[in-house]
Amino acid sequence: MSKIIVTGGGWSGVAAAVRAKKCGADVVLIEKTDLLLGLGNVGGIMRNNGRYTATEENIALGAGELFEITDRLSTHKNVDFPGHAHASFYDVLLVEPEVRRLVKKLGIEVRLMTRVIDVIKERDNRIKAVVTSQGEILDADVFVETTGSTGPMGNCMRHGNGCSMCILRCPSFGPRVSLTERAGLDDLTACKADGTRGAFSGSCKIEKRSLSKKLQKKLEKDGFAVVPLPKKLVNKEKLTRKVCQQYALDSFAENLILIDTGYAKLMTSYFDLEQLRSVEGFENARFADPYAGGKGNSIRYMSVGMRDKYMRAEGMENLFLGGEKSGFFVGHTEAISTGSLAGYNAAMYAKKRPMLTLPASLAIGDLLDFSNRVLEEADCLERRFTFAGGEYFKRMQERNLYITDAKKIKKIVESEGLLDVYNQ
Ligand SMILES: Cc1cc2nc3c(=O)[nH]c(=O)nc-3n(C[C@H](O)[C@H](O)[C@H](O)COP(=O)(O)OP(=O)(O)OC[C@H]3O[C@@H](n4cnc5c(N)ncnc54)[C@H](O)[C@@H]3O)c2cc1C
Repeated sequence: MSKIIVTGGGWSGVAAAVRAKKCGADVVLIEKTDLLLGLGNVGGIMRNNGRYTATEENIALGAGELFEITDRLSTHKNVDFPGHAHASFYDVLLVEPEVRRLVKKLGIEVRLMTRVIDVIKERDNRIKAVVTSQGEILDADVFVETTGSTGPMGNCMRHGNGCSMCILRCPSFGPRVSLTERAGLDDLTACKADGTRGAFSGSCKIEKRSLSKKLQKKLEKDGFAVVPLPKKLVNKEKLTRKVCQQYALDSFAENLILIDTGYAKLMTSYFDLEQLRSVEGFENARFADPYAGGKGNSIRYMSVGMRDKYMRAEGMENLFLGGEKSGFFVGHTEAISTGSLAGYNAAMYAKKRPMLTLPASLAIGDLLDFSNRVLEEADCLERRFTFAGGEYFKRMQERNLYITDAKKIKKIVESEGLLDVYNQ
C-alpha cells in the first residue's frame, strides 16, 4: 500500500488526508499543535455567497464528509448579514473533536504535537522523507503540504503588531515551516495595499458572556448583530490591511458586526479594548481570540507555493499543496476544496493512475485556474481569492457560476462525468 504523509492538520490537511485514505492509501497526518483544524477553530462562517455553490460541488464530487459535520454543527443557518447571503455558522467549540473522531474512524494515523522541520530529497524533484523537530525521519511515497500561511511569530512581530497569541500558539508549539522552501522552491509572500508584507487576519472573538444580555440575546436569536460605531471610532484604513476582502466593505468599518460562532466573532482584525468598551453593550468586553485582539492579529499569506492544476508543487514530482499554502485562498470551504483535490491526486499519483483536474464549468475548477493565471499579473500579491466575496465572487456571478440550487449543481457535476468521482 502506498504511504502518504500530510503535513499540517488544518481544514485543508484534514480534507487531503480523508481523500487519500478513502482512495486506499496509508495516511499519516502530522500537526504541530494539540488541535486539528488550525484556523478552523476560530472561524465558523460557511455557505456564505459563492461558498454555497462550492460546498454543493464538493458534496456532488464525493467530498461531503467535512461539510456534513459543519452543517450538523451549525447553530444558525441561512442567515443574511451585510454583504452576505444564506450563511451558516458552525460552533467553533464543538467542531474539532467531531473532526478528530471522523479522522480516527477512517483509520488515519494522526501525529499531534509533531512539527516537521525539514525534508530529505532523493533527487532534485522528489522528496523521500520529512524530518520532525524530535529528530525522526518519516519516509513516504507522496507528500502533501498544508501548513497554511500564518506567522510564525517573527513575521507577526515584523509585519504586524506583535505576536497576537492566536490559536496556532507558535511560542509553545514552534514556528510554521515551509516544506516547499525546505525543498528549494521559492514561496510567494502577499502584500497589503500599502505594499508592506502579509495581511492581518480579519476577525477576532469576544467571550459572549462579556457582552450585555441584550446583545447576547440578539446574537443567539438572529445569529448576528450590527452595532453602529460613533464616528470618531470609524477607521476605514484598517479595511485595506486585512486578509478578507469579502469583508472590506464600508459597513464593516462603520459598525461593529458580530457573528455567533460559539464566541461572538467581531468582524474586524483588532480593536482597542478601551475604545471598544466605550460602546453600549461592550462595557465588559473581553477578547478570547486572539488574546491580544485589542492590539493586533496574526499575519497571513507569508508563504504560498506555486502549483500546477493537479495541486502539485511546481518543479516537484511527489509534493502536493492544499489550502492557503496552495494560493492566496481565504476560507474553510476554499481549504477543503483545494485540500480534497490535493489528497485525491496524491493518491492517484501514488497508484500511477491519471490525476484529476476540475473543469472551469465548476466554481472550484475556475477558481484554481483563475488564481494561477493572476500570479502572472503585476499586482498579484495584493489579491486574495474566496468564493465569499471580493473579486472572485464577482467573477462567479459574471460567469453564471454562482448557483444556489443544489440539484442544478449536482447535474452540472454529473454532466462533466464527475459525480462522486472522489470515491471511485
Ligand atoms: C481569526 C480567523 C477567522 C476566520 N474566519 C473564517 C470564517 O468564518 N470562515 C471561513 O471560511 N474562513 C475563515 N478564516 C479563514 C480560514 O480559517 C482559513 O483560510 C483556512 O481555514 C485555512 O486552512 P489551511 O488548512 O490552509 O491552514 P491552517 O488552518 O493555517 O492550517 C495549517 C496547519 O498546519 C500546522 N502546521 C504548520 N506548520 C507545520 C509544521 N511544520 N509541522 C506540522 N504542522 C504544521 C498548523 O499548526 C496548522 O494547524 C478565518 C481565519 C482566521 C485567522
